[in-house]
Amino acid sequence: MQYVKGDINLLIAVSHGGRNSITGNVLRKDGCLDSDGECFYSQTDCLFPDIHLCDITLLSDFNTDILGEMIAAQVEEALGGLKPHLLICRKHRKYIDVNREIEEACMGDANCEEVYHDYHNQFYAILKTFKPRGLIIDFHGQANGQNSTEFGYRIDKDVIDNARAHNDNLDATSTLNALLREGASM
Ligand SMILES: [Zn+2]
Repeated sequence: MQYVKGDINLLIAVSHGGRNSITGNVLRKDGCLDSDGECFYSQTDCLFPDIHLCDITLLSDFNTDILGEMIAAQVEEALGGLKPHLLICRKHRKYIDVNREIEEACMGDANCEEVYHDYHNQFYAILKTFKPRGLIIDFHGQANGQNSTEFGYRIDKDVIDNARAHNDNLDATSTLNALLREGASM
């Protein structure tokens, strides 16, 4: 994990751009179905993974580590030297996925869990300094074949689908709109 302390209520987080290994080099693997039909993830107890229903992603979000650093530098320049907080998980996604619950993230590997807790403890320590509010920009890659930039505003997929079906406007429920309502400005 790499953390650069910032001066403003903005966190740039990169969870899937890591390139390094974790002590022990234990690779994550697909999960198994339990008797209730739920996926579970374990290095020791999942002997016959369900590669369709409980598959995981081992690919990194390529170059998002570099992108996060570049954008943090641009923000600092634009704000006359004020830095955003920058948090990058430097471990490769095949060893850890800090963007999942800890069971799927680490599958019981103790070295992985240590990294996981470091990342999340730092993440929430930063959020605690955001008073009254702040903004998190969580960088990810996508592989949909379009050369495009996609934005997410913490609106669930089914809410978006439902709104599309009824021609509803979703702006009011977005994270950015919540900030604007509280008087935030750029
Ligand atoms: Zn990602």
